[in-house]
Amino acid sequence: MRSLRLAILGLVVCLVICGCEKEKELTQEKETETATDKPEAGKEAGMGITLEWLGHASFKICHAEAVIYIDPWKLKGSPHDATLVLVSHSHHDHYSAADIAKVSGPKTKLVASADVVAKEGSGQTLLPGLRIELEGVSVAGVPAYNPDKRYHPKDNKWLGFTIEVGSKRIYYAGDTDLTDEMRALKGVDVALLPVGGTYTMNAEEAAEATKYIQPQLAIPYHWGDIVGGRKDAEQFAERAECRAAVLAPGETMELEL
Ligand SMILES: [Zn+2]
Ligand SMILES: [Zn+2]
Repeated sequence: MRSLRLAILGLVVCLVICGCEKEKELTQEKETETATDKPEAGKEAGMGITLEWLGHASFKICHAEAVIYIDPWKLKGSPHDATLVLVSHSHHDHYSAADIAKVSGPKTKLVASADVVAKEGSGQTLLPGLRIELEGVSVAGVPAYNPDKRYHPKDNKWLGFTIEVGSKRIYYAGDTDLTDEMRALKGVDVALLPVGGTYTMNAEEAAEATKYIQPQLAIPYHWGDIVGGRKDAEQFAERAECRAAVLAPGETMELEL
């Protein structure tokens, strides 16, 4: 009787284990399926988004027909290839008429803070909190300011940007400290954050910002010219609560997320 009970128990245990194994197999198959599906889908959606750091606070983002420059300054060439130029505010290391001219061509649109549009005599003003749709690219203004310093008063309505291009949302913070508006950002894939200190967040504050923004990737800028050095960028990368990439000026990366 006892051995019969043991045999039945053994059979039940065996069936349960086999069942679990089978389930595991199925789950793994499913995961594998998703895993193979995902990169392809991701690749298609994010296909060909490249991001180049042009040094200091300047970036170039390309996707399909879109060629977007942010705060072009001290550019070496004159590619005249921009479809969109974004300028965050009128400080000389962000707004440069000469550099806008170097990237501008017949199709170029300028979207910028009101003071930049006034100085340039052309372009479309973007205010913090508002959004502009431009041929497959959506740009929203995010307030950029120093709450406790005089360099970037909130009343100036200077800008950071969220840029939706392809399937990605890229956040360019502008010259700013860690603000309530930055803490509240959602759905950012790539965060471009200033780390030089004095006029903007320093490395530690920018690393703290990643805790709130929770991007998949963060890239430090506003270092290597005027304020901040590579050690600030590296310190940021060490402390950031997400993947971080320290680029060299002129370095381009594919945004495969
Ligand atoms: Zn500034
Ligand atoms: Zn600056």
